[in-house]
Amino acid sequence: MTNLQIESAGFTKNDLAKYPFLKETAEYIKPLDLQIGDLASMGMDQLLRRAEERVNEAILNRCINRNLKTVDLEILSFPVALLIVISTENSFIKKRYALAEAKQASSDLSKETKERILKIAGDFDWKIKLSPKEDVNTPLEFTIKFTDYLRNAAHLHDKKWKLTNSILSHGNIYLNKKDAVRLLEEEIRRRIEKRLEVKLAKSPPELTEVAERVKKLAAETIGQTENEELPKVVVQTAFPPCINALYEAASSSHHLSHIGRFTLTSFLINIGMSPEKVNELFKTFSDYNERLTLYQIEHIAGERGSGTHYIPPQCSVLQTHGVCKNSDDLCRRIYHPLGYYRRKQRLA
Ligand code: SF4
Repeated sequence: MTNLQIESAGFTKNDLAKYPFLKETAEYIKPLDLQIGDLASMGMDQLLRRAEERVNEAILNRCINRNLKTVDLEILSFPVALLIVISTENSFIKKRYALAEAKQASSDLSKETKERILKIAGDFDWKIKLSPKEDVNTPLEFTIKFTDYLRNAAHLHDKKWKLTNSILSHGNIYLNKKDAVRLLEEEIRRRIEKRLEVKLAKSPPELTEVAERVKKLAAETIGQTENEELPKVVVQTAFPPCINALYEAASSSHHLSHIGRFTLTSFLINIGMSPEKVNELFKTFSDYNERLTLYQIEHIAGERGSGTHYIPPQCSVLQTHGVCKNSDDLCRRIYHPLGYYRRKQRLA
């Protein structure tokens, strides 16, 4: 596709570099017929380097600055970055990458004209229009089909996104620019996450090498987050939904699975609850044995046995075992219940 064709489609090369997830970008790249095996060939190191940089930035900063001085490299580095992320087979990296691309796009979109926002939304087949000029009753700039609204707002938990709090007219919702961009961010994140769901049959060693480096960086970053000091006081309002569900079940003497008990105990110990206090929680259980329960709690706290201080399993494990319940908006940005707790407190 020539520059002229891109312009006529409404997007410039700069747009494709800023919004590389657009269908238009794939069309632009198609004639180059890039194959995964090409990454091992000479001259591809610059592309691999920029792609790795993108993924690293996502892990470290949760955003990906655009380099518009080398537009072609910028456009091409997006699909290569996706390949790197897929090769890691790591759900934290996948989630983080999709989120960072979406956040960066959201920040760029907020500076765009209303017409450009319509164009990008069109790439997702949104039924979106500028509010009719004669509609003087509302200062909201856009109207969007309520199905497009619901699909994206369903993932946002602030009560302002509830349909009952929106202005609905003839099947359309009125939105200001900021909210239209926020909903687009959701759409973008999900499109990228979907593209990361595939499995690669075989990666060239160059790609595997980069993927290993990225995994190492992610592990270090996660480790740092884990080691950040937690506040000394237990703040129940910052509990993640899964822990709330376990805590309520324990408080009303409902049965907890083995992993449920372990998750709740290790979570409470890690946020600073004493073993004695945790023990209180299990007292009404029919199989309660004070000496044994306290021993098990102290074992998890690292005060018995090998001295290992246990932390709760990460979200992906809890999801597999059905312990992840009522996950909310914040859950999409974390990978561990303790990460949720820290983040929620910081937000508060
Ligand atoms: S996503 Fe993680 S923190 Fe959120 S409810 Fe599920 S397991 Fe808990």
